[in-house]
Amino acid sequence: MSISIKHIDQSRLAGVDFNNLPFGKICSDHMFVMDYKDGAWQEGKIVPLSNFSIHPANLTLHYGQSIFEGMKASADKGGTPLLFRLDQHVERINASADRMCMPNIPGDIFTSAIETLVDLDKGWIPPTAGSALYIRPYMFATDEFIGVRPSETYKFVIFTCPVGPYYAKPVSLLAADEFVRACDGGVGEAKTAGNYAASLYPARAAKEKGYDQVMWMDPVEFKYIQEVGTMNIFFIMDGKAYTPNLNGSILKGITRDSVIKIMQDRGIEVVEAPLSKDQVIEAYEAGMLQEVFGTGTAAVVSYVNKIAFGEKVLDIDPEAYEIGPYLKSYIERLRSGDQEDKFGWIQKVNQLQLAG
Ligand SMILES: *Cc1c(COP(=O)(O)O)cnc(C)c1O
Repeated sequence: MSISIKHIDQSRLAGVDFNNLPFGKICSDHMFVMDYKDGAWQEGKIVPLSNFSIHPANLTLHYGQSIFEGMKASADKGGTPLLFRLDQHVERINASADRMCMPNIPGDIFTSAIETLVDLDKGWIPPTAGSALYIRPYMFATDEFIGVRPSETYKFVIFTCPVGPYYAKPVSLLAADEFVRACDGGVGEAKTAGNYAASLYPARAAKEKGYDQVMWMDPVEFKYIQEVGTMNIFFIMDGKAYTPNLNGSILKGITRDSVIKIMQDRGIEVVEAPLSKDQVIEAYEAGMLQEVFGTGTAAVVSYVNKIAFGEKVLDIDPEAYEIGPYLKSYIERLRSGDQEDKFGWIQKVNQLQLAG
C-alpha cells in the first residue's frame, strides 16, 4: 500500500514553544485522510492539516456515528520515534467500529498510515522527558442524509498534537449516584463520541460540588465502581491491586492492561472483579486503602487524593504512593527507550517496514 504525501509549503514547527504546550491545542503539520465509499476504502493520503467542508445534513453531526483512538509516539535518545502497543489500538478501533456499524480499518493500512505520518512529522515529537506526540485516529460518517441508519460513506483521519509532560495534580472524585456513563448492552466499551457528550453534564455537576471528576458507578445500584472520567481505576488495598473487571460497560484501557501486566510481573497480585464501594470504604476504615489512581494514555497514571461516596469522604495521601509512581515511571521509561521492553510493546518507527 502506498501513501501519497502532499507536503506543507511552510512548516509551522518553528513557531511552536515546546516548553508551553497546552494539551490538544497545537496540531502538527500533516494529517492522514482516507475515504470509504462504494463498500471500500479509497486510497489514503497525507496532506497538510486543513479544514473539512461538511454538508449541513452530515450524519455524524446529527446522530453521532463517530469513533476515535488516542495514542502517543515518543522518541528515544537518538530521536527515533517509538510507538506503544499499536496492535492494541488497531484492535480497539475496529471493535468500536463494529459496535457502531462502521467499516473496519485494515491493520496494515492503520499501521502504515501512523508510521508514515509520525516519521514525516517526527520533528514535532517534543524532546523533553514525559512529552510525546499525541496521535488521534478517528472515523466519522459522511453521508448527507437525514434519517437514522448507518452511513454508506466515512472519513478516517489521523492527526497529531505535541503534548508536554502531564504534571497532573492529584484528582478528587465524586462517585455518581444519579447519572450513568454506560449500562449493560450499551456502548460503554466503544470509544464513540456520544459517550463523552453524555459525560459532560455529570462532570459539570461534580465540578460545581468541588470535585475534579466523576467516578462512574454501575447503572442499577450505584454500588459497583466502573471507571473515572476517561480513565480506568485501580485501588491498592492491603498490598493487592483491585480494578473492576471488563464487563462490556468499561472501556478496555490499554494503559489498564499494561499496568496489570507490569504489576503482575513485579509480583503484585491483581484482582479483576466487581468492586463495590463498601469494599473500598471497609479497606479505608481498616487503614488498608493505600493508593487510588486512574490510568489512561494522556496522563498515564493520575493519582487520586479524595473520593466522596455521598456523605462518606475518603482522603488518601498520594505523597505516600509507591506503586502508582512506579508504574508511571516504568511506562515513561519504556516510552523513552530507557526500560528493557520485556513485554514487546514498543515499535521503532524506522525499523518497521513501510509498505510501499
Ligand atoms: C480512552 C479511555 C480510557 C483509557 O484508555 P487507554 O487506552 O489507557 O488510553 C479509559 N476510559 C475511557 C472512558 C476512555 O475513553
